[in-house]
Amino acid sequence: MCGAGSITPAHSSGSVKAGITVVLTMPLDFVFRQARVAGQEDVLVDIGVRDGRIVEISAEIVTEAPATPVDGRLVAPGFVDTHIHLDKSCIMDRCRCELGTLQEAIATVAAAKRAFTEEDVYVRAQRTLERAILRGTTHMRTHVEVDPRIGLKSFTAIRRLKRDYAWAIDLEICVFPQEGLTNDPGTEALLVAACEAGADLIGGCPYTDTDPHAHIARIFALARRYDVDIDFHLDFDIDPSWMHLDEVCRQTELHRLGGRVAIGHATKLSAVDPDTLKAIACRLADCGVAVTVLPATDLFLMGRQHSHNIPRGVAPAHRLLRHGVTCSLATNNVLNPFTPFGDCSLVRIANLYANTIQAGTPDELAACFDLVTVLPARLMNLDDYGIAVGNPADIVVLDCANRSAAVAELSQPVLGMKRGRISFSRALPVLHRPDNLAAAKSAYGR
Ligand SMILES: [Zn+2]
Repeated sequence: MCGAGSITPAHSSGSVKAGITVVLTMPLDFVFRQARVAGQEDVLVDIGVRDGRIVEISAEIVTEAPATPVDGRLVAPGFVDTHIHLDKSCIMDRCRCELGTLQEAIATVAAAKRAFTEEDVYVRAQRTLERAILRGTTHMRTHVEVDPRIGLKSFTAIRRLKRDYAWAIDLEICVFPQEGLTNDPGTEALLVAACEAGADLIGGCPYTDTDPHAHIARIFALARRYDVDIDFHLDFDIDPSWMHLDEVCRQTELHRLGGRVAIGHATKLSAVDPDTLKAIACRLADCGVAVTVLPATDLFLMGRQHSHNIPRGVAPAHRLLRHGVTCSLATNNVLNPFTPFGDCSLVRIANLYANTIQAGTPDELAACFDLVTVLPARLMNLDDYGIAVGNPADIVVLDCANRSAAVAELSQPVLGMKRGRISFSRALPVLHRPDNLAAAKSAYGR
């Protein structure tokens, strides 16, 4: 276990002490002492930060800069949430659900959405985003619904949020038609307007469209027109007899967009045998389509037609990884009919996935940690993510010594830094033992 005590952030506004004339290394704004970097946990290092970037990593950095003792704890470049819906989070108090099915969730949220205002979306999304920041998330891709009922209200609110919280998190906005595209006149014009107004990428939801293949084709056409990546909601049931995945792979190759296309859910992959899974994984890897698994939602919504022996409906991301598929685990929904739970912790999501999928060895648990850090960074094509010299100083300290312990023990992030500035801190819990242990045992011992 790590050293006892608390993490106390030094103030990065400080600088080299007055009167110090000899500094053995370059001046720093800040230094972390005795850190274990995720993936290289066997060695302790100091991490030096200057002008918002990591400028030095070595066994011992000589500097008078303000120091934060990490005391052997795990340091990561923050969690990366590739799939969340900020715009429809925190609405359980205005929804009534009885069946718990995907169809009911879509219909209930569609009804609630009619009353959304820009300010309402901003306030709820802000609550969810702040929770995610406090759980150590430094990069996020949020899906935002666009259709003629909501117009661009949610998009405008989330774009404001992106700007207002840029000090703590890099937020990507993926606009998408949750209720269909070809069956919903006016939706494509709104997607175009959002792309014109700066949406970072575009998503699709062919399972709610009356013409799924035409839906997929239109999304690819828009992505080409605006030169943006694509992130689909796809294959969101557990019937493996048909898949839209084939069409997404075909279109990805046709448009030469390998490495820029992701699919979320892919729950059908939980229902195929190992040989079929391997063949599909090879196809996904070959054409450069990534997969995001959303265990909280998938566990809640899948298998509702079963009265007992309910299938889990969670795609085995760690097995897809073995065949070269880029994968991530993500939050999806928070406190709404799709997922009436959520603390915005990606460590919890990794733990939930590991428990569900029966991944329990140290290597498997470490892989689950990678599925919420370095692998989603790859999915989002974040080329300057990582604890490395030259990268932005995005640094999160967790109260554990390695990645597998973080997932197994649901370790909390205790300190976060974004681009060289402390963005949050969390005090470690303290056990208050009685002053006189013998007297306490006597008083309460039976
Ligand atoms: Zn989603």
